[in-house]
Amino acid sequence: MQESYKPQKIEQKWQGRWEKTKLYKARENYKQPKYYVLEMFPYPSGRIHMGHVRNYCIGDVIARYKKMQGFNVLHPMGWDAFGLPAENAAISQGIHPAKWTYDNIDYMRRQLKQLGFSYDWDREFATCDPDYYKWEQLLFLDMFEKGLVYRKKSPVNWCPDCKTVLANEQVEEGRCWRCGSEVEIKQLEQWFFKITAYAEELLSYCDRLKGWPEKVLMMQRNWIGKSKGAEIKFPLIDHPGEITIFTTRPDTIYGITFMSLAPEHPLVQKLTKGSPQEKVVNQFIDRIKKQSHLERMAEDVEKEGVFTGAYCQHPLLDKKIPIYVANFVLIEYGTGAVMAVPAHDQRDFEFAKKYNLPIKVVIQPPDRTLDPETMEAAYTEPGILTNSGPFDGLPSEAAKEAIIQYLEEKELGKRKISYRLRDWGISRQRYWGAPIPVVYCPKCGIVPVPKEELPIILPLEVSVKEKGASALADYPAFLETTCPKCGGKAQRETDTMDTFVESSWYFARYACPDEKKAPLDKKRVDYWLPVDQYIGGIEHAVLHLLYARFFTKVLRDLGWLKIDEPFINLLTQGMVCKETYRCPEHGYLIPEEECKHRRCIYCGKKVEIGRLEKMSKSKKNIVDPEKMINQYGADTVRLFILFAAPPDRDLEWSPQGVEGGYRFLQRIWRLIKEISPSLNNKQRKNWDEKEKLLYRKTHQTIKKVTEDIERFHFNTAISALMEFFNVITHFVQKNETTRPLVLKDAIEKFVILLSPFVPHIAEELWHLLGHKTWLIEQPWPKWEEEALKEERLLVIIQINGKVRARMEVPAEISAEEVKKQALNQERIKQLLTGKEVKKIVWVPKKLINIVA
Ligand SMILES: [Zn+2]
Ligand SMILES: [Zn+2]
Ligand SMILES: [Zn+2]
Repeated sequence: MQESYKPQKIEQKWQGRWEKTKLYKARENYKQPKYYVLEMFPYPSGRIHMGHVRNYCIGDVIARYKKMQGFNVLHPMGWDAFGLPAENAAISQGIHPAKWTYDNIDYMRRQLKQLGFSYDWDREFATCDPDYYKWEQLLFLDMFEKGLVYRKKSPVNWCPDCKTVLANEQVEEGRCWRCGSEVEIKQLEQWFFKITAYAEELLSYCDRLKGWPEKVLMMQRNWIGKSKGAEIKFPLIDHPGEITIFTTRPDTIYGITFMSLAPEHPLVQKLTKGSPQEKVVNQFIDRIKKQSHLERMAEDVEKEGVFTGAYCQHPLLDKKIPIYVANFVLIEYGTGAVMAVPAHDQRDFEFAKKYNLPIKVVIQPPDRTLDPETMEAAYTEPGILTNSGPFDGLPSEAAKEAIIQYLEEKELGKRKISYRLRDWGISRQRYWGAPIPVVYCPKCGIVPVPKEELPIILPLEVSVKEKGASALADYPAFLETTCPKCGGKAQRETDTMDTFVESSWYFARYACPDEKKAPLDKKRVDYWLPVDQYIGGIEHAVLHLLYARFFTKVLRDLGWLKIDEPFINLLTQGMVCKETYRCPEHGYLIPEEECKHRRCIYCGKKVEIGRLEKMSKSKKNIVDPEKMINQYGADTVRLFILFAAPPDRDLEWSPQGVEGGYRFLQRIWRLIKEISPSLNNKQRKNWDEKEKLLYRKTHQTIKKVTEDIERFHFNTAISALMEFFNVITHFVQKNETTRPLVLKDAIEKFVILLSPFVPHIAEELWHLLGHKTWLIEQPWPKWEEEALKEERLLVIIQINGKVRARMEVPAEISAEEVKKQALNQERIKQLLTGKEVKKIVWVPKKLINIVA
């Protein structure tokens, strides 16, 4: 009786052997060309989900393929282990964040090993390990010395649910990236990384990242948001000082009719204190404070404001400009003050209409004349200057230049490039993170911890009880310390670093995870970096991917790295989606458990099967990878995921597809198992047609699979292998007794080409075929151009026995195909017009006779 395909048994066996021989260990071999493939490392949330599996399957194909191509491959894995979920679990379940994190790591590592990924596990680390964050603290101090870290009080994004500050990059349309809560603005003392010092380089180097998706680059460019314009000063009247604004439209300066300040602008209080307007202004501010940040940013928010009673001086005209406080001006953008030109800015226009403020046209469009009385919206396009003194008649672009020059001569303003990018606030008011190595001394102020005192270890004996400020503030053994400068009593910083700091340089540490004396070992880092292929989700486009680029440049400038950019090629994989089940009353349902016969088990109502959505717990449409592995084996899961869609597209989970993948592997298993004993090395001198065809198909498949893997078209590579396997099967069935060398060669090539996708079954079959070597050490096959050429035949086409045309076709063409091609010949089509084809006779390799 034939032994059936038992994937779990095979997979365990080979995983054990690979691990024992350290088959995937990456060793520095400085003469061999290297290839560094990396998938974004996971947060140890508990279990591996299908999104992870997809990400790592893609990376594993590339790693295995490159290794077989002769590269020295680095393919590491580790854990982005600090972060809020651990702390929240601690609060809700009473488990210490460290235990929760390390337990999850153990569980997930075992799951990853079940999938047979070719990781060098010797390089594994978790970022919550002091051996890792120690070096991060050192880098913080290096950056502090260079002026790349500073502390300041500023308005920050505050998530009321996570009870911590968020960086601008962590706010998506006014909401927390993690929990979706509306973000509030708070004034807080914070540590900042000076990412703006690299704004121009981060922007201009986008052009060099040829291996990145254009979409990601576009998002980064927009995020950095460079704009050219002028900074202009407006002296205050009856008050000392001035208002500074930034504008990209200096050409509209003669159209200013008022000035708008953000309610939080410090000048507001100074201008109104003790004035008759003080009360109404304060009432207005109190009211606006209740408006959420999100509302105030919205385009359709009602533009509201109040006059402060104060005026400033127009820099180019003898004119007093009233100063207003306005809800739509935000303190965290620009200078928190806006020169208002209602004729040429829509928000200013709406504001002016509401409060009956003058509208002065200073730009005329080329095709009509604007009249402030009848305008229904601001005119924001370029045009010709009017009502603008000496600049009348100039086109907008030229006028921008001329006005900036004039302002600079008069010292009333200056040319300025402005970026939307803000410095990266890295203080988090949470416990489970890397401590910031700074102490506060009543005498000496901010004192950095001396480098030899590192690491400042996060104490594990702290109990994390409730949401709120970092538990470190209530833990005297950590908090109380002595000042490194004067020796007096001092207190440690109790905020921890944003976890995005850890992920900003982990890829470099993988080059030398055991380095004891420094953050990085330059020799090894120079060899392995940059990452040749990085793979992860597009949701990191302006978060992690921007921070990692920034950090690479900082590490370069600190002398640790020689590269400018961390990732040469970036692949952003699509999501894993599945349909959703929904009861009109009970919401999303778990397909098998909460609905029976398409009815809700709670109320009996008909279940709606909804559209495809990203797998998520809340939509109850997840498929557990471990369950799938137990049922079908890891190879089937890998095969399905790689076959179902190209890596950059969304993938639809399909139970039939999984089943189909499993059956394919079973067929391979049965056939090779059955015929392997009878395969021989004898080759006949004169090949028959079937042998020629098999030989050609072998080389065609090598070419196709190689080219497809290079382009990450894994799905079409797998279909080519399926097609190849059909040809092999056919050959075996038609040649019951002969098992020539060409068949053995075809089967071996097939197994090699298959191995990056389904490494376990491939290894098993490889050994079954009598090999003692590891598949991964097998050179990737090369195709011979000569072998690809198809033999062609000249075929005669007759109609009713008369020769009417000739055509060339491949020698192995099927009867069906040759008939189709004959009927498609122009001349034959013409001759058959109006006639009915009764019969087509195909005399193989010779002629076709059409009876009509
Ligand atoms: Zn949140
Ligand atoms: Zn001191
Ligand atoms: Zn229901």
